[in-house]
Amino acid sequence: MATLFSEQERYKSLVEASPMPTALYIGVDMIIGAANQAMLDLWGKSASIIGLKLMEALPELEGQPFFQILSQVFQSGETYHTKESPADLEVNGVLQTFYFTFTYKPIRNDQGEVFAIINTAAHLTELVEAKKQIIETQQRLSFALLSAEIGTWDFDPINNKVNWDDKCRTLFGFGKEGEVKYEEVLSCIHPQDEKMVREAVSKAIHQVNDGQYDIKYRTINEEDRQIRWVHCKGKAYFNENDIAYRFAGIVQDITDEVKSRQREHQMLTLVNHNADHMTIADLDGRLIYMNEASRKMLGVALDADVSKFSAGDFYTPEELARVQNHIINEIDAVRGWTGHITLVNYQTRESIPCMVSYLLIKDLETGEIIGRGATARDLRPEIRVKADLQKLAAIIGSSEDFCNYCDIDGRTRYINPSGIALIGIDKDQLLNTNLFDYHSEASNHKIKKEILPVLFAEGKWSGELELIHQVTREIIPIHKQFYMIREEFTNMPVAIAAIARDLRPELNIRKILADKNAALQNAVEELEFLANSVPPVVWSSKPDGYLDYINKRWFDQTGKGDDETLGSRWAENVHPDDVPDAIKTWKASLETGNPYEIEFRCLDKYGTYRWYLVRAIPLKDAEGNIIKWYGTNTDIHHQKELEKQKDDFLGIASHELKTPVTSLKAYAQVLEAMFKRSGDFKNADLLARMNKQVDRLSSLISDLLDVTKMNSGRLQFNPTEFDFNEMVEEVIEDVQRTSFNHAIRADLGFRRNIIGDRDRICQVVTNLLTNAIKYSPGASEVVIYTHDLADRVQVSVRDYGIGISPELKDHVFEQFYRVSGEKQHTFPGLGLGLYISSEIIKRLGGKIWVDSIEGKGSVFSFSIPLSD
Ligand code: ADP
Repeated sequence: MATLFSEQERYKSLVEASPMPTALYIGVDMIIGAANQAMLDLWGKSASIIGLKLMEALPELEGQPFFQILSQVFQSGETYHTKESPADLEVNGVLQTFYFTFTYKPIRNDQGEVFAIINTAAHLTELVEAKKQIIETQQRLSFALLSAEIGTWDFDPINNKVNWDDKCRTLFGFGKEGEVKYEEVLSCIHPQDEKMVREAVSKAIHQVNDGQYDIKYRTINEEDRQIRWVHCKGKAYFNENDIAYRFAGIVQDITDEVKSRQREHQMLTLVNHNADHMTIADLDGRLIYMNEASRKMLGVALDADVSKFSAGDFYTPEELARVQNHIINEIDAVRGWTGHITLVNYQTRESIPCMVSYLLIKDLETGEIIGRGATARDLRPEIRVKADLQKLAAIIGSSEDFCNYCDIDGRTRYINPSGIALIGIDKDQLLNTNLFDYHSEASNHKIKKEILPVLFAEGKWSGELELIHQVTREIIPIHKQFYMIREEFTNMPVAIAAIARDLRPELNIRKILADKNAALQNAVEELEFLANSVPPVVWSSKPDGYLDYINKRWFDQTGKGDDETLGSRWAENVHPDDVPDAIKTWKASLETGNPYEIEFRCLDKYGTYRWYLVRAIPLKDAEGNIIKWYGTNTDIHHQKELEKQKDDFLGIASHELKTPVTSLKAYAQVLEAMFKRSGDFKNADLLARMNKQVDRLSSLISDLLDVTKMNSGRLQFNPTEFDFNEMVEEVIEDVQRTSFNHAIRADLGFRRNIIGDRDRICQVVTNLLTNAIKYSPGASEVVIYTHDLADRVQVSVRDYGIGISPELKDHVFEQFYRVSGEKQHTFPGLGLGLYISSEIIKRLGGKIWVDSIEGKGSVFSFSIPLSD
């Protein structure tokens, strides 16, 4: 026993010393003789169990194979060894499975009997768990690889060999057997992708990107030439010399994915470019998708994130309520919902009437509704077109023209109310009629032979035709336009439209116009006849002076035709000396619109110049604009000659009279003086009267002489400087001496010297004063004023006599003019005084005029400019 014990003790100390969990069970009852701390930890027990039966110490082992194994070892004396065997142990009150590698080794006594078993164990639970997980992971992985259609490959860059699993081989279209070379792999790659793959592989095995490899490309199956998309991922491993010794990874068939993505992209592109507006929203109305057309219509930027919007942003408040409260519930699972909805542009807030279709979007798998799609068609263009069509229909309907529409065979489809009225057709029978029913025979022929071919070829025709009134059978001339209407896409002719205008009113007007024209032509001819029959040349010109008509008389006189005369060529016939004046006066009249009057000489067809009096007056419209000038050239050559003869005669006569009258005057003066000296006052008085009459006679003669001189331009002027006032006072004295009934009152404001012909100015003042006295027989005074007007002197003579009527006033300055009237006989005279006066004043560059009131008196005035 002692040995036993000592042996037991020895084992005990061995047990304690063992680095591994070790225990010693003694006897058939398996009493725990020793257990080191490692074993105690493994069991999860304290040292108090030492000395207890194993079965009592670890009751949880009951039902597990250990006791049976132990008893077998005890019986057989053979060592039991097991690897990674599970054991359920209660550690910290929890029963758990642990894995051990353990050995039950029988210990024999000297007699060779087994008396104890030594148990060494290695706690393998973690190792086993890890292994298990690896296996599970491997299984899961291979399952995953299998189900994900993923193949694996392993490339040995050094030996240029590829190790492929079966999946890889199928993906690349290789047979199942044999080794694969890298080049062979490349030959299976789509030519367009081959370069890219080479580069990616080369990068990975040259340690770019940490040896990572991730690429998608196409393969072409060697056998069926089918193209597949694959996704390859892998990694290169490098040895200590940084040389890739292994490059391995997976390959996945992504053909379906790529195809479905392409399909999705195609669909999206289609949807995005669709003209209809499409949106998708989730059940809460949050937008998920909106195509371009929709974005444009609803005012959402093309790059805006639609998830920021809610479907409600695009409705008017009323429409939103209608959609939310009613329409959403009415969307049929199969047919959806379609109807009118007014949407709103998010930015402009413009209302957009739309035809909207809603449909429900379901989850493919579960069938659950996950969203709503909407397509909308903007109705505005349609509405506009409809409105335009309505307008067009209204225009056609209310047009006064005949508008109709028939099919390609001429069957009537429509005639507007004006058309119906024009041809008196029965409205109800309209559709049973044909184009050819309401055109005349001749027109029908023309339509068939001429118009239809043109219509088919060119699409339209216009011209004159005839309609037939369906009741009265009256033929109605019309101007018609035909249009061929073709089908939009096929371009097939489908109908003929026409518009026609009733030509009767126009023809009536044309006839009236023709009649009027004829009448006018007659009148013109008559007028021309008249113009040609009067003695003067008659002509007319445009407002700018362009001669546009001249009568035949001109031709008779000059021998020149229209083309040598019209325009301004008439001037070629005018005497060169008279041309400047003629043109100047004509231009002045054209500018002012005042009548034109001038005398000039014109060359006749015999080569001699004749005098003409040319007069023209303008014809004006209601606004006073000149439309035309009408003129006459009257031949006054004969008068001119007579005038000249008269002037010559007067000149000679007055000259011849002057000498005897001067002698007469001398004798009379001598005789008067003689009688006075002899005291014969009676005879002296007679001779004084004679003397006076001789004075009158000589004054008349000198007037006549002056006039003849003036007319022939021979009147002489002798300018001198003289005292104007003194001259006037002298005249007053002279005149006063012979005027006994009138007092001459003077108001002389001009007191300077002037330069001029003293005698001639004296003559004018005398003439005005004597006239004033002569033509105011009932008055007792005349007044003479002189005014200093700085640059000129003005003289006025006022009388309170018979006056002159306004219309005759301006004539008194004309040669031989005498105002005729009852009283005129009482006033002797030739009508030359004022003419001579006005000629003198004109020659001095001055002005002469008269202000007068008939019966009250006159004021004759003149002014002369003062020379420096
Ligand atoms: P005469 O006096 O010799 O007739 P004038 O040439 O001097 O000729 O006058 C022309 C006409 O003018 C006169 O005949 C007369 O009718 C009118 N006349 C001239 N002076 C006056 C006047 N002071 N008052 C009224 N009529 C006048």
